[in-house]
This record gives sequence, structure tokens and C-alpha cells, in this order.
Amino acid sequence: MTPPIPLAAVIGCPVAHSRSPRLHGHWLARYGIVGHYVPLQIAPGDLEPALRLLPRIGFRGANVTIPHKEAVLALATDVTPGARRIGAANTLLFTEAGIMADNTDAYGFASNILDHRRDWQPRTVAVIGAGGAARAVLAALLDRGATEIRLTNRTPDRAHRLAEEFGPAVQSVRWEARAEMLDGCDTLVNATALGMTGKPPLDLALGALPRDAIVNDLVYAPLETPLLAAARARGNPAIDGLGMLLHQAVPGFERWFGLRPQVDRALRDAVLAP
Ligand code: NAP
Repeated sequence: MTPPIPLAAVIGCPVAHSRSPRLHGHWLARYGIVGHYVPLQIAPGDLEPALRLLPRIGFRGANVTIPHKEAVLALATDVTPGARRIGAANTLLFTEAGIMADNTDAYGFASNILDHRRDWQPRTVAVIGAGGAARAVLAALLDRGATEIRLTNRTPDRAHRLAEEFGPAVQSVRWEARAEMLDGCDTLVNATALGMTGKPPLDLALGALPRDAIVNDLVYAPLETPLLAAARARGNPAIDGLGMLLHQAVPGFERWFGLRPQVDRALRDAVLAP
């Protein structure tokens, strides 16, 4: 019998906006792999039966997006320590034993910055935002040796909770003090939705930020957010969020299709094409 064509999916609701099919489709074509990556709109009530069915019909795994990222943890047979720590999964692998749930956002975040600065060693870092993406950012920063992470969020309770959960290196800072907290930081990360197309810009005075500090915005639509433009204008190295999206996809593709793909300009262009 001929081996089945490998399949993978992105599962979400809605899912039409996802750039993942284009991203994985680019790699499949580039490496000449006979396989398919498809968007599947799955309503929350259908998640469990869908996850039971997909492995039986040839799917090797899936990416998971809103609103299923937390719910899949309860349905997985195996949750990686990274996904457990972040409290959400974005990558599933269907195995003989069941479903393995992983989170590759922390890897994607760090790889994006390292792509621009090979020697990046975060120590004192300012993080704005305390949602799901901020959790992945904190995990990555701690893993890379950050010793002081100043975390602020419009809703202070969420920042307090994250600081408690991630340990003493993470301190929550009042939203009103976000400009002052930049003093002495080597890295600044916007992990809020502010600056996205259709949202107001992040209101943050950069005067206290050292001019050699790396500024990374997780937002990638638009690529050049008002924050990145302001950072660049005063000489700070500025890194957009698209690279995180591209890099977080690498471990999933490798597991499903058996080849570690490259993140490069051609991939970026393919994902950005209108
Ligand atoms: P989330 O869990 O919904 O969190 C949203 C965050 O944005 C919260 O901290 C929220 O603050 C803050 N926020 C939203 N509107 C605000 C406003 N008007 N004023 C102040 N703060 C506001 O979302 P998420 O998953 O963490 O995603 C956050 C951003 O990261 C999004 O733009 C997303 O596209 C981006 N992201 C990018 C990648 C990538 O691969 N580049 C990956 C994941 C996420 P409150 O707690 O006060 O509501």
C-alpha cells in the first residue's frame, strides 16, 4: 500500500485570517513535499470529536489558534513542560500514544530576536502586556537568563498574577510608571495588541530607554508599528513580530513533514504577499 499523504491543519474559530496555511504551503512547495496543510474552522463544541477524528484520517498534527489554545491542554495525552508553563498549546502532534501538546511561541519569540542579534543576552527587560503572548515571552526571557523583568499591563491584576506565577525575577510595575521602568533596560517587548491595524498605538515615551536597547513588537500587522518607528527614529534596534510567527512554525513542520525548514526572506515575502 502506498503511504498516506501527510496532512496537517490549523484549527481555530475563526480561522480564515490565519497566515499559517500560506506559510506551511510555501515550505511544502519549496521542499517538494507531497503533503497538505489546511485551515479547519472548528467550533468549541466540536473540538474533542475533531481531535479524535483527525489522526484517523491522515493528519499528523495541527496548529491551534483562538479559541482552542487552552482547551487542548485538557484533551492532550501528553503536555510538554513548555506548554504547561505557558498554560496554552499552539502545536499538536498526533502519535501512537495519543496527542502531544506543545507551545512553540517562546521558541519563536527568542529565535526572531536571535536572527537579528546573535549575541542577544537579555538581562533587564521591560514587557508590556500580560495576555497569552506575554506568558510565552516571560518563559523565553527567563530561559535565556533575564534576571529582572519589569512587567506592566493596563489591567494590573493580570500582571500581578503573572509575576507571582513566574517567580521573583518578574516584577509587576504600575501602568502609569511604564515610561520610567524603561530606564536601564536592554530589551523592550510590546506584548499587547496596541499598534495593530485598527487599534490605537501603544502610548509609551521612550526617553528613559537606553539607545542600544532592542525594541521588539509582537504585532506584525502592520510590520512597522508606531512603537518600532519611534524606536528606530531614536536609534534603537527595532525588530518586528513577523519573525516570531515564522519561527514558531518550524518545530511543527519538522515533526509533521520530517524536514527542518528555513526561515528566510523568501518565506517572509510569501507570507506578506497580498
Ligand atoms: P491577549 O491574551 O488577548 O492579550 C492582549 C493584551 O493586550 C493584554 O495585555 C491587554 O491588556 C492588552 N491590551 C489590549 N487592548 C489594550 C488597550 N486598549 N490598552 C492597553 N492594553 C491593551 O492577546 P495575546 O495572544 O497575548 O496577543 C497580544 C498581541 O501579540 C497581539 O497583537 C497578537 O497579534 C500578538 N502576537 C503575535 C505573535 C507573533 O507570532 N508575532 C504571537 C502571539 C501574539 P488587558 O489585560 O488590560 O486587557
